[in-house]
Amino acid sequence: MRINDIQLEQVNRQIHRILESGNYYSRIYKKAGITGVSSPEEFLKIPFTDKADLRNSYPLGIQAVPDEEIVRIHSSSGTTGKPVIIPYTAKDVADWAEMFARCYEIAGITSKDRIQITPGYGLWTAGIGFQAGCERLGAMAIPMGPGNTEKQLQMMVDLKSTVLCATSSYALLLAEEINKRGIRDKICLKKGVIGSERWSAAKRRYIADALGIELYDIYGLTEIYGPGIGINCPGQTGMHIFDDFVYTEIIDPMTGEVLPDGEEGEIVITTLVKEGAPLIRFRTHDLSRIIPGECSCGRKYPRLDIIKGRSDDMFKVHGVNMFPSRVEEILSMVDGVSSEYKIDIAHDESHNRDIIMVTAEADGRVDFASTADTIRNLFKSKMNVTPKVAIVSLNTLPRSEKKTQRVFDHREE
Ligand code: ZN
Repeated sequence: MRINDIQLEQVNRQIHRILESGNYYSRIYKKAGITGVSSPEEFLKIPFTDKADLRNSYPLGIQAVPDEEIVRIHSSSGTTGKPVIIPYTAKDVADWAEMFARCYEIAGITSKDRIQITPGYGLWTAGIGFQAGCERLGAMAIPMGPGNTEKQLQMMVDLKSTVLCATSSYALLLAEEINKRGIRDKICLKKGVIGSERWSAAKRRYIADALGIELYDIYGLTEIYGPGIGINCPGQTGMHIFDDFVYTEIIDPMTGEVLPDGEEGEIVITTLVKEGAPLIRFRTHDLSRIIPGECSCGRKYPRLDIIKGRSDDMFKVHGVNMFPSRVEEILSMVDGVSSEYKIDIAHDESHNRDIIMVTAEADGRVDFASTADTIRNLFKSKMNVTPKVAIVSLNTLPRSEKKTQRVFDHREE
């Protein structure tokens, strides 16, 4: 998906505005001799940026407009180090709400719906994004925020919520609770809008069946507006990304090379019209691919496949990129094994070779030793590496609502 002329002109304008603002990126671009872009080839020469830049410019170093134009900030909590602050103008806030309302519409949600919003409000972009989109659409927002299951279920029943917005973990918790209490017939939910992260097909099926709802994956990250820059359509063939607001590339996370449509790699996003904090070629560390061709629904927005994991969880052994999605594929083939795993990679100095240790979870009814053998053989035949395998009991490995790190590389230590 090459950058088109309109997008190119939008990026060109973004660069001019950045240069005039004197912000953090203006210094980087001046040093690199970047004065604008007039061709796709020039665009590809703009250096990538990532969260490290946003931390380096903490708190407001990436602000590209005068203070009086900023109406709000959001912040993403890093797992390590300083948080990241993103300033928004009134137009940024309005643009985000428009994209979000578009997401709801694509999911078939209308002004007649009642939308129960359980992601957190505050510095995080989640809750307030779901809320603004809902109000733009004209639907009724039920702004719950996270937690307090008792109250969530009471509101869901009494107000007859038709749409649930949640992380997959929280949707699962609510689904289990509804089942446990036997109140499914009192629930009016029809659709769930779930913040996109890597989640297993099994979890998805359980939530959809337990609540009797259609599920939609919504994509986005705080650095780029927040959730709501794309969503899957009823065709369920990937998430439509709004290319009038953002331009998406897929790169090889190891080399930075831009990959053709269809190939899996890291999502890189350029904001096309953002004012408060424009970002050009921002590395998201999310893994996916652009689905080639057009969607059966007829919408022209390009499509991203569901998120396959984090590029931090990619690893290289014998010069070959190993994707977390491949690991999950292997684990899904083994009876009694969950989708959670941990991989440790170390270097054996005495034999001058890498050692891979896979820790997987299995339930009590299967034999751990033979399960370990099966996994080892599958890795050998499918990925051409022979790991050591440890099996632990179900629910031993850490779960997190945010993005869980699963691969630990001890080689450079
Ligand atoms: Zn579609």
